[in-house]
Amino acid sequence: MTNVTSLDAARSSPRKLARKLGKFCGHRHSILVCEEDRTVECGTCGAKLDPFDALATVMREWDKWEQSKARSEHDARRASDELAEVKRHLANAKAGLRRATR
Ligand SMILES: [Zn+2]
Repeated sequence: MTNVTSLDAARSSPRKLARKLGKFCGHRHSILVCEEDRTVECGTCGAKLDPFDALATVMREWDKWEQSKARSEHDARRASDELAEVKRHLANAKAGLRRATR
């Protein structure tokens, strides 16, 4: 009967069951790697993590970070171009004002 309940739980919420089995705990931003005994655990709650799952999580976070970095660099370049344009307009406006007030 317990097995049936577990299967139902797995069907309705595989993550919840995995968490019960100690594979996931829901904390994803703190992973401790113990090189001595070659284990990986959650840095927040100490749950033992599957090393492959932990590596996959790190790779996903790395990909997200790289995409975010590329977006930030693109935004920074665009903002820099816009600032240069504004500075050009300001210089022109100042020159026009100087000519007009002479
Ligand atoms: Zn945790």
